[in-house]
Amino acid sequence: MKTWIPDSRNFAYLTWPQVDSLPRESTLLVLPTAAIEQHGHHLPLATDTLINNFVLGHALRLLPETLPVYALPPICYGKSNEHIGYPGTLALSARTFMDTIRDLGASVAEAGFHKLVLYNTHGGNISCIDVMARDLRAEFGLRTFYLSGSGGAKFDDLDPQERAYGFHAGEVETSLLLAACSELVQQDQYTVNYIAKVSDPKVLTPEGGPANFAWLTRDIAPSGVMGDPTPSSSEKGGRWLERMAASVAKALVAMAGFSETGRAESK
Ligand SMILES: [Zn+2]
Repeated sequence: MKTWIPDSRNFAYLTWPQVDSLPRESTLLVLPTAAIEQHGHHLPLATDTLINNFVLGHALRLLPETLPVYALPPICYGKSNEHIGYPGTLALSARTFMDTIRDLGASVAEAGFHKLVLYNTHGGNISCIDVMARDLRAEFGLRTFYLSGSGGAKFDDLDPQERAYGFHAGEVETSLLLAACSELVQQDQYTVNYIAKVSDPKVLTPEGGPANFAWLTRDIAPSGVMGDPTPSSSEKGGRWLERMAASVAKALVAMAGFSETGRAESK
C-alpha cells in the first residue's frame, strides 16, 4: 500500500529499544481505521485507506518536530457489510473489527503507553469505534480519543446536496484521490446517484434524519456511488486535503497536551 506517513512518524519503522525509549506518558499513538470496499465504477477498493493515509501523513508533517506522535500501521479492513454483493469488498464482522482494536489496545497498554487515537475514515466503522474508544478506556485505563477523517474541517464550498448526500465515491473522495494518486481514478467511469434530496426531506431517510432506515448499498445505489463525482478535480482535492490535515493536526496537538488535571469538578 502507498504511504504518505513520514518515516520518522511511522511506529512500525522503529526498533523495540527505540520504542522503549519513548516517553510513555506523553506519546500519542494513532491507530488508523479504514476499509477495503467497493467505491463505484471509478474509484479503487482502497479509497478509504488511501484517504486516511494521505490526510494523516500530511497532518503529521504539520506537527512540531518534538511532539511524540506516531502512526501505527492501519487496520485496512473494516465493517463494510453495507457493501456486500460487490466483488472486491473485503469486510470484517463487527466482532472481529472490535476484537482487533481491543487486542491492539491491549498491546499498547501492555507496552506502558497511555494515549491512543482511533483515526477513522470509513462511515461503517463509526459505531464500533465509539464503543471501543470507551471500552479501551474502561478495560485498560488508556486515554483514548476518536478522530473522524476530516478532523472536523468544513466543506462549506461544497454544494449543499453533495455535502449532505455525497458521502461515498462522490466529489470529496474522488477529488482527494485525484490529488493523491490520479492514476487510480477511472475518470471516464463516473456515475451519479443521490439516495435522498435535501430539497425534499422525508420522514424516513437512509442517513442524517430523525428517523433512519438501515440500508444496504445494493438497495439504494446500484452503481455503488452515493454522490456526484462529476465536478471533482485535483485542485479541489488539494484544497480539502490542506484543510483536513490542518484540522487533524490541531486535534492531535490538543490530544498530545490533554490531561485530566483541572477537569474534575471543584467543590
Ligand atoms: Zn469511502
